[in-house]
Amino acid sequence: MPKPEALIRPLLDWFIKNARDLPWRRTIDPYSIWISEIMLQQTQVKTVIPYWNRWIQRFPTVEALAQANTDRVLKLWEGLGYYTRARNLHRAARIVATEHGGVFPSDFSKIIALPGIGRYTAGAICSIAFNQPTPVLDGNVIRVLTRLFAIAENPRNAQTNRRLWDLAETLVKSAVRFTDKDIIRLVRSCSTFNQALMELGATVCTPRQPACLLCPVRKHCQAHQMNRVGDLPNLSSRAASTTRHFVAFVIAAQGHFLVRQRAPDVVNANLWEFPNVETNGNAVEIEGQAQACLGFSPGFLDAFCSLKHTITRYRINLEVFFGEIPETLPQSKEFRWCKLKAMDQLAFASAHRKIVEALKTKLIAKVLK
Ligand code: SF4
Repeated sequence: MPKPEALIRPLLDWFIKNARDLPWRRTIDPYSIWISEIMLQQTQVKTVIPYWNRWIQRFPTVEALAQANTDRVLKLWEGLGYYTRARNLHRAARIVATEHGGVFPSDFSKIIALPGIGRYTAGAICSIAFNQPTPVLDGNVIRVLTRLFAIAENPRNAQTNRRLWDLAETLVKSAVRFTDKDIIRLVRSCSTFNQALMELGATVCTPRQPACLLCPVRKHCQAHQMNRVGDLPNLSSRAASTTRHFVAFVIAAQGHFLVRQRAPDVVNANLWEFPNVETNGNAVEIEGQAQACLGFSPGFLDAFCSLKHTITRYRINLEVFFGEIPETLPQSKEFRWCKLKAMDQLAFASAHRKIVEALKTKLIAKVLK
């Protein structure tokens, strides 16, 4: 088994020379690091960069985020998905403003008590921003550790997961004790070490075809020595996904379109969407569905587009129909008539944002005809 001390120096050296220049790596501000960590959950780095830049520009401090209204927060998050993350950021910022005097706490127990922050995120903030020896264990670190230490058990198994956390903790604590009198001490060894583990998993020790020849800890890697890299980590397949079918209605009247805001207590809470309803996926009697969903039937409905997307374990098939009525109906509590341009001010669920964009394309094509 590799000795923790043997891994520290090569990983620190490698990270200092090879780390990607990411905008949140140019700061040690805990608020900015927190935002990046939350955005990076389930989302690729290249997608996050423009969102993070915009966010920090609009809400440069935790106070600014705390004072923002929810619609503005959701609008800025639009397109990143998993909107609970944005709502939790907003709630947590308000707690920091009221209970911590607007200063992001440095204490692990206070950070993990904030909404939307688990052990990984609290560990990342404490180590990266405050250089504390708190472990991190995300998918990248799990891959690196299971390979380095040839851990064949499934990391989702509670006991193995505990073992991996312990290992990550031992390693980052060894980084504290790193006593070489060179630049390493100046670069905040716990922060650098945790980021090195994550970076190695993201760029070298990748799920498929890891670049072992470029790996700074190759000579210590058990999986590499045993020719078992391709077998690890041993992740048993997840639960099968379920397909769900929806129909949505784009109803136009006098240059306006019918939209509605989702309730505050459901998935994608408070986001905007076109009226839609779940079906059983068999051929549906579309006018009847429209009547049930809208409370009226627009007379004719044309197939407009089909969209497929995935939310957690659900594969969603969304069939969109277009209809037009001569006049807008009175506004109701549930629906709002909205001009296409005004929709840019609203935060839409991602599939429905695609419908907005398809509508714009269709209208431009009509004008150019
Ligand atoms: S040698 Fe290969 S498998 Fe082992 S840690 Fe490095 S990149 Fe991963």
